Amino acid sequence: MDSSARGKLEAWLHYADDLGLGPFYLDRAAPQAAPPESSGAPSFAERRVGTPPEISAPPSISSSPVVPAVARGLSGVPPPVSQRVGTSAFVPAAPAPSLFESSDRIENDTLDRVRADIGPNCTRCKLHKARTNIVFGVGNPRAQLVFVGEGPGRDEDEQGEPFVGRAGKLLTQMIEAMGLRRQDVYICNVVKCRPPENRLPEKDEIATCSPYLIRQLDVIGPKVICCLGACSAQTLLNTNQGISRYRGEWFDFRGAKLIATYHPAYLLRNPNAKSDVWKDLQKVMAVLGLQPKRK
Ligand code: URA
Repeated sequence: MDSSARGKLEAWLHYADDLGLGPFYLDRAAPQAAPPESSGAPSFAERRVGTPPEISAPPSISSSPVVPAVARGLSGVPPPVSQRVGTSAFVPAAPAPSLFESSDRIENDTLDRVRADIGPNCTRCKLHKARTNIVFGVGNPRAQLVFVGEGPGRDEDEQGEPFVGRAGKLLTQMIEAMGLRRQDVYICNVVKCRPPENRLPEKDEIATCSPYLIRQLDVIGPKVICCLGACSAQTLLNTNQGISRYRGEWFDFRGAKLIATYHPAYLLRNPNAKSDVWKDLQKVMAVLGLQPKRK
């Protein structure tokens, strides 16, 4: 391969990595890889069920280009965690419980308690140094649908509310296209404080903050959790695999149905992906018995 072609390929791979589409060496290796013998747990790929059904075109959701808080792959381990499920039948559970599955639910927990436990001046991780506000979460505490993003951006840090910037406006449009209002759902993030310069949350920050996310999800008890982007999907599914591999598929997460789709910030840069996201949201709507908003 000549140096120009190599340069182009490298640039593309970096770009794809930014979007959480990799790692590609795993893609190439996967078909030749021997199935794991010792654990007995179905692998992430083995637990895949079915293909997404064809559905109608998405509604037009207006957007303009913006630099996104990009979803990118985290390094981690393959997921023994949640189980992929078909739209009607659940796949057998992986025998090994995940960190999240094995952590007990806190009896009589409430969102107020979770917020109080985080505290008004949390310094548990280094993200506290640059944040203005802790962005806990917003919406219906009894929502059937919870959206989980990555972490606050600048607008969210200033206002103390998740998804209020440009990506947030697109998320609001997506919610309304589903026939819901923002206040009908619950919206939160993996980390509650803004990563400087909108960088990805780091492993230690996620490890510190995600227990509070899990408590929020346990308290709300939604029917559906929709992960927005790779950070949230990889955190809740305990995988380092790129989101494009499993977006639109159903998983079980502590009794809720979990689906991952692309982050709205990604859609601002890649409007062509809106049709994929709309397909995913239509699956959510089918589970929740929702009709799309009439234009
Ligand atoms: N992106 C996120 O992931 N979360 C927000 O709250 C805002 C932008």
